[in-house]
Amino acid sequence: MPKISIVVPCYNEQAALPLFYQEITRVAGEMDYAEFEFVFIDDGSKDDTLPMLRRLAVKDKRVRFVSLSRNFGKEAGMLAGLEAATGDFVATMDADLQDPPALLPALYKAVTEEGYDCAATRRTTREGEPPVRSFFAHMFYKLINRISDADIVDGARDYRLMRRAMVDAILSMREYNRFSKGIFGWVGFKTKWVPFVNVERVAGETKWSFWKLFLYSLEGIIAFSTAPLALASVLGVLICLIAFVFVVVVLVKTLALGDPVGGWPSMMCVVLFLGGAQLLCIGISGQYLAKTYLEAKRRPVYLVRETEEGVR
Ligand code: UDP
Ligand code: MG
Repeated sequence: MPKISIVVPCYNEQAALPLFYQEITRVAGEMDYAEFEFVFIDDGSKDDTLPMLRRLAVKDKRVRFVSLSRNFGKEAGMLAGLEAATGDFVATMDADLQDPPALLPALYKAVTEEGYDCAATRRTTREGEPPVRSFFAHMFYKLINRISDADIVDGARDYRLMRRAMVDAILSMREYNRFSKGIFGWVGFKTKWVPFVNVERVAGETKWSFWKLFLYSLEGIIAFSTAPLALASVLGVLICLIAFVFVVVVLVKTLALGDPVGGWPSMMCVVLFLGGAQLLCIGISGQYLAKTYLEAKRRPVYLVRETEEGVR
């Protein structure tokens, strides 16, 4: 029988976890044509998540877990899960039931019968989300698709089912700064997009503030595009052209018209603008340098403290 691994990153999910487990086992029960393995990642939770996982693993042999030594973030958790998963097919989904397990049979059908390597989900509405956040999200997707070669779909969730080949491709990307949406797009493979209507989390709270999301989007841009680095050159050329026109204007005014060019305010504008533009460009280079620095250290993306087999 083919084996499906379900990878679930969990950070302080004690409220949602029992509901999730109930729902996923129900769906797994319906899909009796496949074998299941549930790989939960405890991403350094401070609540009852880990004891709960321990109990589940004792009760249900399909349940496995990997507990990280501290909170490493969802991206690290997903990597830990993909590395631990042993299935022929691997699905990633959130623990808060915002990724409905009920879609699994349809996703599975797409990869086994319809010739896709991956079936991914996309939410069609952003209901229940502040409008400002939706606006910036749309802007982000437009921008990143223009400046990067990873195909990143607006509204895509991290809920997807992949064939082993695609999972191995993702695992072969050893980068430290992991922006999953970009990585999924970058590896390619034939992906079927399954739309569904957005659902709110069943219990507990979201871990994402607007500011965190904003910083995360910058990470995504830095990880998957070098276009911002070209900004300095583009600005430089533009300013040189403007300066050249300015020189001609000043020369003509002084020599031909004998008009002494007054200019303290205009000078200040030019100095401030140039100073600002230069700092901006150095700042952008700095961001890339910082990421390069972190990559160069080759630190592990996550550290494991405990699994269902015991404490390491
Ligand atoms: N998560 C995680 N580590 C973190 C933050 C979140 O493993 O540092 C998990 C969380 O438990 C959930 C999923 O990532 O299963 C999505 O998180 P959340 O629901 O807070 O994000 P949202 O759905 O609001 O984007
Ligand atoms: Mg959620």
